Amino acid sequence: MRYYSTNKGVAPASLADAVIKGLAADKGLYMPERIERLPQSFFDKIETMTLPDIACRVAEAFFGEDIPQGDLDRIVRDTLSFETPVVRVTDRIWSLELFHGPTSAFKDVGARFMARMLGYFIRKSGETNRVTVLVATSGDTGSAVANGFLGVEGIDVVVLYPKGKVSEIQEKQFTTLGQNITAVEVEGTFDDCQRLVKTAFLDAELNAKYHLTSANSINVARFLPQSFYYFDAYAQMKRHGLAERLVVAVPSGNFGNITAGLFAQRMGLPIARFIAANNRNDIFLEYLKTGKYVPRPSIATIANAMDVGDPSNFARVLDLYGGSWEAIRSAIVGFRYTDEEIAETIRRVLDTTGYLLDPHGACGYRSLEEGLREGETGVLLETAHPAKFKDTVERITGRPVEIPERLQRFMQGQKQSVAMSAAFDDFKRFLMAR
Ligand SMILES: *Cc1c(COP(=O)(O)O)cnc(C)c1O
Repeated sequence: MRYYSTNKGVAPASLADAVIKGLAADKGLYMPERIERLPQSFFDKIETMTLPDIACRVAEAFFGEDIPQGDLDRIVRDTLSFETPVVRVTDRIWSLELFHGPTSAFKDVGARFMARMLGYFIRKSGETNRVTVLVATSGDTGSAVANGFLGVEGIDVVVLYPKGKVSEIQEKQFTTLGQNITAVEVEGTFDDCQRLVKTAFLDAELNAKYHLTSANSINVARFLPQSFYYFDAYAQMKRHGLAERLVVAVPSGNFGNITAGLFAQRMGLPIARFIAANNRNDIFLEYLKTGKYVPRPSIATIANAMDVGDPSNFARVLDLYGGSWEAIRSAIVGFRYTDEEIAETIRRVLDTTGYLLDPHGACGYRSLEEGLREGETGVLLETAHPAKFKDTVERITGRPVEIPERLQRFMQGQKQSVAMSAAFDDFKRFLMAR
């Protein structure tokens, strides 16, 4: 299968090239040139299949031509070392819990898959040069990528994060690992971290010495595997007899997660409608209303993994629907919530149902309360464990949040990071000396 750029300014790439490059040379996002429709027989018996079995079949549709089945199945099964249960919150609203992985956020799925696929391509190419993955993070991406790549042969990871601007629990998730993971604590903002990474990719000397790549969410190997759990959620709802008219609400920032759901739908998964749930960064909602896409600087909210002012996967959504505003409007509706509304939702849902949402999942929940029509059942994607936002959630509910054991284990680790100024020369000197 070949992968074309959404900007159509370069020739299509092989899967290996698309995964190693991440972004196309014309700055477009890679798209698979075909999206296979899975046969009816697959959907007829999907409720009898496990998540890994479903995922192997879906993965084959995208990657089957490029990776032998045994290798691909191994990548998929290694990735899915945890479950993605759908849990009842009310009769009409169910929660797809994507936080049972190593770092307690949905990004574990994409990061683990990408690490294994990149490792596979590097081994196959016989490349002796190690590959260095550079990743800038405001919290969740760094932890998922660092843990996803931990111990993968032939790959080093350098995580850059802004000093004092990530929560302690997030910081521990990528500064305590050792092995092939190095954390760099930058005296600056997230934007500074991103600038250092981008400048490094353009630096001739660094690129002559190292094979540099990124692991951000635009990479096809991080983005496509996210479709697996939409199929599995459907299978679970079918077992409950509730799969007739399913509406899926996705708390969205860069729109990678929801786009993977739209791909699943294109492959034949019977989802009635999608809801993009946003915080006050509502650029996409404005687009749905006006047909005009106007990026703007992000604003800080308590659902901070969705503080995105120019969602990178918007290009993929547009491409998937041939640029048609009408088509996009009929497939997706949007909702947006203020911090006060998010807090009110967390409090009220906990009081009335006993279910604790995180600030991102709360946007999804509320959008279903407001957006579900007669006869529909809603599934929200609970994208992170509430303990990842412990301080915020405890302040809202006034009750202590239980921390899962796998998160507690990180807290016991010893922080190790390299202090760095925000000047590129310092960062370059550090990389060259490695
Ligand atoms: C990254 C993230 C999101 C946003 O996902 P996108 O794929 O960027 O839309 C939502 N919630 C949490 C907890 C996240 O970490």
